[in-house]
Amino acid sequence: MAEQYVRYDDGTVGQVDGMAVPRYAGLTTFARLPRAEDVESYDVAVVGVPFDSGVTYRPGARFGPAAIRQASRLLRPYNPALDVSPFRAAQVVDAGDIACNPFDIVAALAQIEAGITGLIGSGRSVVSLGGDHTIALPVLRALHAEHGPLALVHFDAHLDTWDTYFDAPYTHGTPFRRASEEGLIVKGSSAHVGIRGSLYDRGDLVDDEELGFTIVHCRDFDRLGADGILERVLDRVGDAPVYVSIDIDVLDPAFAPATGTPEAGGMTSRELLAVLRGMRHTNLVGADIVEVAPAYDHAEITAVAAANLAYELVSILADKRSA
Ligand code: MN
Ligand code: MN
Repeated sequence: MAEQYVRYDDGTVGQVDGMAVPRYAGLTTFARLPRAEDVESYDVAVVGVPFDSGVTYRPGARFGPAAIRQASRLLRPYNPALDVSPFRAAQVVDAGDIACNPFDIVAALAQIEAGITGLIGSGRSVVSLGGDHTIALPVLRALHAEHGPLALVHFDAHLDTWDTYFDAPYTHGTPFRRASEEGLIVKGSSAHVGIRGSLYDRGDLVDDEELGFTIVHCRDFDRLGADGILERVLDRVGDAPVYVSIDIDVLDPAFAPATGTPEAGGMTSRELLAVLRGMRHTNLVGADIVEVAPAYDHAEITAVAAANLAYELVSILADKRSA
């Protein structure tokens, strides 16, 4: 049976109509949006990147895209916090999953870069659903080719700027050292937000600064509040093209239990949603949400958080496209 999409006057195809087909029924795309091949063109694509061969602890983020899509069924067409109807303001689609090799990381990185490259261009933007954090590197490579060096705003409990792990250069703990070495980010305009937990060595922090990052530590959040965090981020990125990478473990395990390397004392989902909304006037060009490993979830807590974070990012990108 044909999907009953909402169709707006200008030809934009919205979600499957929640008043005609209940939200729990029908095929599962992100927010019940049309697939890329169902429309003539699109402005914003949500794409799955089910790759988790770069993990160092709990595996399972390869099932993240499917879980986030399932949890996104409840997303509705109007975003009151931003006063935007994202699926009307721009054509938003689900571009499916990028198929990548689970046994050869270098081959997978090339497949992901090619997949993202094929989705962007002509002002189109992509929100990628991981997958483990390894996927951010090929996404940044593809976006760098389009936009030049990016101001990276990286929400994570972890720095992800290790050099190697068990001699491996490409893991979910190394993407941002590689990105800095490859010149993909604007040194001095990039930041890690939400960092906490134990480290191997104090030197990890020194290395990180040399790679071009500043750190907004989670332990400072009670003092800073969402506005203070946001101020630090906005000062840092300026007018540069911005890429937002969200490791779901930036949230406290209370708000995101289903992830590979959980750390106590994290952000609330309310705080993170507020910081993202505050970034609406930055030059955001793309984003990812990674490290959702649904086998460790309870009542879709983590997947619902990820779906709502993706909705804010899509809302900002769609609003920019319509402006
Ligand atoms: Mn992490
Ligand atoms: Mn990470």
